[in-house]
Amino acid sequence: MQHFNFSAGPAMLPAEVMQQAQAEMLNWQGVGSSVMEISHRSKPFIEVAAQAEQDLRDLLSVPDNYKVLFLQGGGRGQFTSVPLNIAQSTDLSLHLQSGSWSKGAVSEAAKYTRTHIVAQDTVDHTGLRVVPGQKDWSLTDEQRSQAAYLHYCPNETVDGIAIFEPPKLEGVPLVADMSSTILSGPLNVNDFGIIYASAQKNIGPSGLAVVIVRDDLLDKAQSITPSFLNYTIQANNDSMYNTPPTYSWYLSGLVFKWLKAQGGLSVISKRNEAKAALLYQAIDNNDFYHNNVATQHRSIMNVPFTLADSALDSEFLSLAEANGLAALKGHRSVGGMRASIYNAMSLEGVQALVEFMQEFSRTKG
Ligand SMILES: *Cc1c(COP(=O)(O)O)cnc(C)c1O
Repeated sequence: MQHFNFSAGPAMLPAEVMQQAQAEMLNWQGVGSSVMEISHRSKPFIEVAAQAEQDLRDLLSVPDNYKVLFLQGGGRGQFTSVPLNIAQSTDLSLHLQSGSWSKGAVSEAAKYTRTHIVAQDTVDHTGLRVVPGQKDWSLTDEQRSQAAYLHYCPNETVDGIAIFEPPKLEGVPLVADMSSTILSGPLNVNDFGIIYASAQKNIGPSGLAVVIVRDDLLDKAQSITPSFLNYTIQANNDSMYNTPPTYSWYLSGLVFKWLKAQGGLSVISKRNEAKAALLYQAIDNNDFYHNNVATQHRSIMNVPFTLADSALDSEFLSLAEANGLAALKGHRSVGGMRASIYNAMSLEGVQALVEFMQEFSRTKG
């Protein structure tokens, strides 16, 4: 039986990548050791690191005036690092709150700078979750003039809420938590001051955070900023001020190569859209299933849904598991189900899920 893993994170990785890592595990490129057993300062590892950076730059067309950093501490680490690096304690960080992760970023930023929430996700008259457009934000000219940055999360992993068009505030750098959406399709890096992502959703194994930061945002850190969190220090040391998560970096590099071999991000993006369309169709065409996000905000990476009768939740999960469909339980804060369908999930996997859902509603609904 096929096994399909819908985990939200750490999430599945492409089988080809895992096979290559397995083949290279004990004796990497003939050096006689695993890549995780050699110095990050050795020539062979520096080459791995530089190649991974170059491949990521190629995939996202990162302009030359941006640094790409490979750091520790995942997504939440950046909730701390962003304010420490680009806002003084008297500055203001603006936040568009569209779900649980962007909300988490506010409370962490508030420890190091002043914060202001410009808008929060809400429920419209039809009961669907929406994010207010910019014309409905609460933001005075004074707040805007004091703003060091505007933070948002284009894809809320727990809630399945996406914001497809980046907000624009003239003169205010945009910071995006792309943990669960980076590399799912092409993007215009120039729209952003900082893009960051924890690796374990759509990049590689956990432990790593990728940070893409525009040069003019360096040299702005608060004096209390721990050195290993300081973007400028890390940039000046090629992300090796402290020992980086070398194995995660190597494996992420294999994923970047895999993405290039698939044809790059426009090919990947079409595939992702097809997968998501198939799953949402299965939900919308069946009264037994429901997704509570307004169409224009539906995530193509994380698809939460509920059953008409929540008493059947545990049976749904155990039967799914028995049919090779793993990790469909929704986040503990929202309940229900969630299918995470990142780059590595095949269309075949989504088809198997859809068939299972149809069968389940037919026999149990
Ligand atoms: C997973 C996730 C995080 C947290 O990442 P950690 O590596 O667990 O700190 C933050 N933001 C988003 C959008 C996420 O999906």
